[in-house]
Amino acid sequence: MKQSSLEKEIESLLLQNYVPATVLVDKNLQVIKFYGNTSDYLLPSQGDAEMPLKDLVRADLLHEVELLISKVQKEKKPFKKENVEFHSSEIVAKVNIAVVPVTSTLPDSYFLIMFQPSDAQKYDAISTNTSNDISNSTQRNKKISEQEIEEREEKFRALMQNAFDVITIFNYDGTITYQSESIEKVLGYTAAERVGKNIFKNSTVLPEDRSIEKRLFQKCIDNPYNIFRSEFRMVAKDGTIKIMEVSCVNLANNSNVRGIIKSYRDVTEQRLIQRQKEDFIGVASHELKTPVTSIKAYTQILHETLVTKNDSESAGILLKMENQIDRLTNLINDLLDVTKINEGKLKLKKEPINLNELVEQIADDMQMTTKRHTIIMNQQAIPTIIADPEKISQVLINFISNAIKYSPTSNQIIINTFLSENDKSVIVSVQDFGIGISKEMQKNIFKRFFRLKDEATRTYPGLGLGLFISAEIVKRHKGKIWVESASNKGAKFYFSLPM
Ligand code: ADP
Repeated sequence: MKQSSLEKEIESLLLQNYVPATVLVDKNLQVIKFYGNTSDYLLPSQGDAEMPLKDLVRADLLHEVELLISKVQKEKKPFKKENVEFHSSEIVAKVNIAVVPVTSTLPDSYFLIMFQPSDAQKYDAISTNTSNDISNSTQRNKKISEQEIEEREEKFRALMQNAFDVITIFNYDGTITYQSESIEKVLGYTAAERVGKNIFKNSTVLPEDRSIEKRLFQKCIDNPYNIFRSEFRMVAKDGTIKIMEVSCVNLANNSNVRGIIKSYRDVTEQRLIQRQKEDFIGVASHELKTPVTSIKAYTQILHETLVTKNDSESAGILLKMENQIDRLTNLINDLLDVTKINEGKLKLKKEPINLNELVEQIADDMQMTTKRHTIIMNQQAIPTIIADPEKISQVLINFISNAIKYSPTSNQIIINTFLSENDKSVIVSVQDFGIGISKEMQKNIFKRFFRLKDEATRTYPGLGLGLFISAEIVKRHKGKIWVESASNKGAKFYFSLPM
């Protein structure tokens, strides 16, 4: 063996076994040279090289390495980060990373990046090991990690057995490749009975609902990595029908899963309770309506009697009572509307209407209810439209009463009517300068029973139904409803109706 090649081999052995895994990088973060065994931390590339560091460092270490380099560049001194976790073939290991500027050259020209297993003893173990194989420290990490993995798998199995959710993984042709054992509790089948079966040919979905299931899976197949949700009924082994809330995600391209994951949960009881609650609201509001209407009629008669008897004080009190009865009637009507919406029974009585006239009339009526606010109208000429005047009035009343209610310290409400840009619809907007609605809350305000939960709105009365009903009414007219707002910047509610 020639001297030079002997030296080279010794140098290489020493470097591989006694020097921490290190790379030399230049100021452009190109790797100039590797020292030691860097294979745990960098892609397998040894010796001289010139490659961008970011392409070589393991993805889960890169962020820390980059942070350290930028600190070193800024402060011109070495920096170190200990116990950085990374994953190496299913092992979670920890490493200390040090970045040291090489000062003999121009400042900022070169850096050494050193990787050492977190525990110094583990590093000693490498130094005495002349083998080129994976370091002892990594093996120790691996041992710990294997135990960890076993524990995790055990936990996962227990979770899957006891979970309320059932998980099924199937491939594109519908063959079940994995079935969680929790299926037994929910549908009575054992996991073994289902694995290998086809979810379509050996379906557990109620025949009437299979088209819903197909639509869900088709969406999943067409849009990998997106989660889709649906609800349909499934039949248990004993014939019981159960309502399932189902979510589905296509992970066929993920090498760890290689399938479509369907996760479902029995919501039969919740739906039953929900149904009972809705039925109760329907019955209760219906039963309340008759006595409240009678009370209103008697109050009106009594009011007239008191006026003829010149008892203006009592007549005044009765007038206040009538206002409260009106509020009660409105609440009951909202509840009745929600019941009708739930049952698909909200009927429209459409006729040709002059929307500007209708808006003016409602604005005049609403102006009577507020002393603080002035309602300002900006109306563009718009043609006659076909709509249900009573229901559109309801939307307008809701918009304007909300504008009054949620802007107690301002004094203007602006109503605009105008044609859309392409003249295909008419638009009405109601603008206030009150408490406004934050961006993240805006998507919820048209939902049933939704009310903002902050201190500011807690003091305002309401059931959170007005906008939900308004949205349904506008939807039935094939129109659109939306809001532009920001916290404390007022709100501008819009609805459009097609022409
Ligand atoms: P309610 O007013 O009875 O609570 P709505 O369905 O009419 O129910 O409104 C839902 C929620 O939207 C309200 O509770 C309120 O938080 C918010 N909201 C509606 N209109 C306005 C507005 N003009 N300004 C600020 N917040 C509003």
